Amino acid sequence: MAAELTLSRGEPCIGCGARVGTEHAAGCREGHCPQTGLPQSICSGRHGHSGGGVWTGLVPGEGAAVSFGWFAELRPGEGWVPVEPRPDAVDYGADYMPDLNRVFSQARWSPAAQKWVPPRPSAS
Ligand SMILES: [Zn+2]
Ligand SMILES: [Zn+2]
Repeated sequence: MAAELTLSRGEPCIGCGARVGTEHAAGCREGHCPQTGLPQSICSGRHGHSGGGVWTGLVPGEGAAVSFGWFAELRPGEGWVPVEPRPDAVDYGADYMPDLNRVFSQARWSPAAQKWVPPRPSAS
């Protein structure tokens, strides 16, 4: 079950109110898990979550989805459907946003680099 994810748009962390560029409060679990890249609030790993880290203004996976061009839109009766990035969209909202679930299910988290890397392209 995917937890409800809320995109921040550069606003203070919804968990602890940290401003962009400052550290999350101790115990805030909105930051990413260093081991899996998932939001700590939904990571089920039993490796301990210390909270903390710098709030970048992007929820875990958001920056990766944007850089990969992975977006989804909410269609009535269908749910979230992967779509091409909308060239005319400068912002996203309740029915169009970076496809975080695709990042979490298809991209690979690199603990060394602390970032998501795209799936290997199929042989060309
Ligand atoms: Zn926080
Ligand atoms: Zn974890």
